[in-house]
Amino acid sequence: MNKKKIEALLDATGIKANPGEKGYGYLVVEGFPQEFDVPVVIIRGKKPGPIAFIIAGIHAGEHNSIQGAKKVSMDLDPQDVSGAVVVVPVANRAAFHARTHNGSPPDGQDLSNLFPGKPEGKVLERVAHLITSKIIAFSDVVMDLHGADAMERIIPHLYVPEHEESTEERDWTGWDLAEVFGIEIVGSIGSRKENGSAVHAGAALGIPSILPEAGSGFLEEEAIGIHFRGIVNVLRRVGILEGLPLIERQIKKVRYERIPSPKTGFFYSYVSEGQEVFEGQVVGEVTDYFGRERVIITSHVTGHVDFIKLTMATNEGNGLYAIVVDED
Ligand SMILES: [Zn+2]
Repeated sequence: MNKKKIEALLDATGIKANPGEKGYGYLVVEGFPQEFDVPVVIIRGKKPGPIAFIIAGIHAGEHNSIQGAKKVSMDLDPQDVSGAVVVVPVANRAAFHARTHNGSPPDGQDLSNLFPGKPEGKVLERVAHLITSKIIAFSDVVMDLHGADAMERIIPHLYVPEHEESTEERDWTGWDLAEVFGIEIVGSIGSRKENGSAVHAGAALGIPSILPEAGSGFLEEEAIGIHFRGIVNVLRRVGILEGLPLIERQIKKVRYERIPSPKTGFFYSYVSEGQEVFEGQVVGEVTDYFGRERVIITSHVTGHVDFIKLTMATNEGNGLYAIVVDED
């Protein structure tokens, strides 16, 4: 199984890797500065099997997911692999080195809204297109790793896109992968044929895909471990690595309720990530620059704070909080 697919993947990426070896290279964005080229590691097993794709750094400030992906690329021994594992440790290098968060040079675009990309588009649309057409198209699993950046706070959670299908050659769905990743809070996100992240591009091609989120913009061993162990569990689930996944916790299906900023100004939060909040509870406030006008923010649901955008600057309509509400 998949012998032709691995040959096609190597051909598309231009990266050389013999069976039982790792290959390294870049997807080159022709006609644009080198800083946009995408680093790729291919860990090619000796035995045939599925192809798993791990991508981090679509949001360049989400350091723990980047480190988790890098650790997988370093620690996996191709002798232990059946099939192949493809790792892009940092997809948006330009934003990473510019030390920006979600918006990226040269024009503030967010790579997580640009998949599947355009071959003749703006530079990051081309990056998305290269990743989709040269890697995702050949994959049997897509793991699009995220977390909080330095100005955000989250508790670990995981998204599964809607409408993805398993094919006969794969006996797993995105939900099966979510169940072994080791993150408890799992919600579905809509499918997006356009303007999505890598997880949406995978789902649109019928490839089981998940988007785990863990850690902040500062390196933390615990969060790196969540990404690393989750990936290893998924690789075991699909038979790329031997052994059974170590399932550490049951998943809890949730829905996400977002609280937008009521106005532009200074934002202050009264609650922290992980905290339980009740319907009608005051969770924060936005003031004008003089502190004379004050708009109280309340939660419209009872649940747990899953995400907070902690910049003091806020703009009307920006997402400030995500509250998770149990579905079970
Ligand atoms: Zn992200």
